[in-house]
Amino acid sequence: MIEYESLARSNAEFMAELEQAATRVIRSGWYVLGDEVSAFEAEFARYLGVKHCIGVGNGLDALILSIEALDLPPGSDILVASNTYIATILAIVRAGHKPVLVEPDLETFNMAPACLPAALTFNTRAICVTHLFGKPCRMDAIGAFARDHGLKLVEDCAQSHGAKLNGKMTGTFGDAGCFSFYPTKNLGAIGDAGAVVTNDDTLADRLRHTRNYGSKLKYVNDYVGVNSRLDEMQAALLRVKLRHLDGMTSHKRALAEVYFAQLPDWIAKPMQRDDEYDVFHIFGIRHPQRDALRAWLLENGIKTEVHYPIPPRRQKAMTGILSGSYPIAEELHATELSLPISVGHSEADIRTVCALFDKATPRFASA
Ligand SMILES: *Cc1c(COP(=O)(O)O)cnc(C)c1O
Repeated sequence: MIEYESLARSNAEFMAELEQAATRVIRSGWYVLGDEVSAFEAEFARYLGVKHCIGVGNGLDALILSIEALDLPPGSDILVASNTYIATILAIVRAGHKPVLVEPDLETFNMAPACLPAALTFNTRAICVTHLFGKPCRMDAIGAFARDHGLKLVEDCAQSHGAKLNGKMTGTFGDAGCFSFYPTKNLGAIGDAGAVVTNDDTLADRLRHTRNYGSKLKYVNDYVGVNSRLDEMQAALLRVKLRHLDGMTSHKRALAEVYFAQLPDWIAKPMQRDDEYDVFHIFGIRHPQRDALRAWLLENGIKTEVHYPIPPRRQKAMTGILSGSYPIAEELHATELSLPISVGHSEADIRTVCALFDKATPRFASA
């Protein structure tokens, strides 16, 4: 059986360093907002080439606190991809605004810049882009659109640690870049964790308050904040993983190369462009008989996932919040299949998956 991902296997590679970091934190006697968090923030900011990094509790809070810190008029329209993971949309709602869906490009899964003008209203104040599956959005076109219309720009980078467009890191194009370090992400903690990165001094200062009850100086509260802090343990473990991020990314990209070279033609593979550095958080293919193909692969020893089975528009929680029809999102949610691609997989594992696809050809090629 080839697993979709075994986190224990992915993290085993760094076990000695992780254990050493965990021990250091336990012995230090200081567990929330301390030297490890400051060091991780500095190291992650340097990695991305951005001025500030503010550690928070998780990726959803990174988004909520960033959007809130933009100080937009309550109930502003914020443009967001119709096929994003639900968290991006939840954050807009939680920050007191209205998500307005923009269709993605069928080939890239990412927000289609050409669909932005039709979604614009007089109430639009921001765009929240998601670099889905580790592929950078077209920030050249989206950034230009935001500038032309005076819109703020927030990037959901929960799936795109280290992804680049024209050599520039995702998370550094907009007003704020929001990261999740949920264990399955490309830079994953051993629990929940997140961060916001920004070049804006005022925004950074605001976030350093709001993540911690609205207080930077103990018992002095300047804002109505929340408790969403990155803890010392996760920061120390993330410092270890960050040192290996480029290596992990190279490994995933090598696995993707095997897929590109060996998957049969009847599979719609991820789109590749020379100016994009895709980090393959997910290797998402498309097939019209996705569910039958997935079941057949499982019978034959390969576990896969679907990202995601239900489009945001169809979630019960979005009743009264989202409306309209989004055929591209519907198509992607109905046909997407995620193949194994992780630090714990070898190129031989991926060749095994590809060989099984060859065996599936007579059954699934004509669909
Ligand atoms: C994982 C994820 C989030 C949320 O991150 P958490 O740390 O789980 O809160 C937000 N957006 C996207 C696109 C994600 O994949």
